[in-house]
Amino acid sequence: MPIGVDFGGTRIKAGRVEDGRVKSHAVVNTPRDPAAVLDAIAALVRELQAEPDSLGLCIPGEVNERGECWRLPNVPGFDGVNIARELMKRLGCPVAVENDATAAALAERMYGHGLRERSFLLVTLGTGTGGGLCLDGTVRRGRHGFAGEIGHVLVDSASSAWPCGCGAQGCMESYAGTTGILRKYHELGGQGQDVEAVAQSARRGESAGVEALAMAGRALGLGLGSIQNTLDLDAVVFSGGVSASFDLIRPAMEAALKERAFAPPLAQVKLLVSALGNDAGIIGATLLPQVTLNE
Ligand SMILES: [Zn+2]
Repeated sequence: MPIGVDFGGTRIKAGRVEDGRVKSHAVVNTPRDPAAVLDAIAALVRELQAEPDSLGLCIPGEVNERGECWRLPNVPGFDGVNIARELMKRLGCPVAVENDATAAALAERMYGHGLRERSFLLVTLGTGTGGGLCLDGTVRRGRHGFAGEIGHVLVDSASSAWPCGCGAQGCMESYAGTTGILRKYHELGGQGQDVEAVAQSARRGESAGVEALAMAGRALGLGLGSIQNTLDLDAVVFSGGVSASFDLIRPAMEAALKERAFAPPLAQVKLLVSALGNDAGIIGATLLPQVTLNE
């Protein structure tokens, strides 16, 4: 049974997958040291299978053409590390590595909305705002692995625009990521430390919760307007923790998308929530050893 690992900034999750469903899980908190992370991944995999045949791994960053990690802002110390080679040394089997949102798009293509929608963008809503792109039934990683990374599309060019974890300011993620949503919520007097508290506030009809989620929706709609004007997709599929509050984000998103769309049909793109839940990364990772992206 194939094994996939979803290496996140907070937790590392491994799973054995059959027919697109995770049959058994192993989870550990992400250590702060790269060597400890590699050891933890190898130990999790061995917990599920003593001698694995192959491993697929998704990471919160990209892999360059030499197989080295880069742009992992939430997990220090991994830039330049050839994570596949390091895990091969520890596990003695081939290891395939890909960006987490691109792996989630692959899972969606094979087992989710991608069975019906030929061209879609998978948007992960959480601490960061990631993206994976599928065009005409093929998941695209792009020339350098960055295809679909919608989180850093510019939605605010004012000098007062909010900073982003990538080092720039005014990115979609600055407003649609959990840090931005909580910043707005607290500025408006909201109490609580997670997006669930913001959602509960919005469901009670309080302006702090309603306006914080409307701000995130507007940022998403502005970014998606540019994506739609460029790609004319069949659907946008949302996954990740914040998508549980999708109904609260959707109205402002649709209004901004309509405002930015070059022609009305571009704003009528299907906006869907993934049914694969938090397992999309693991499921997609298990597919990586068998597929060649971009083809
Ligand atoms: Zn950014």
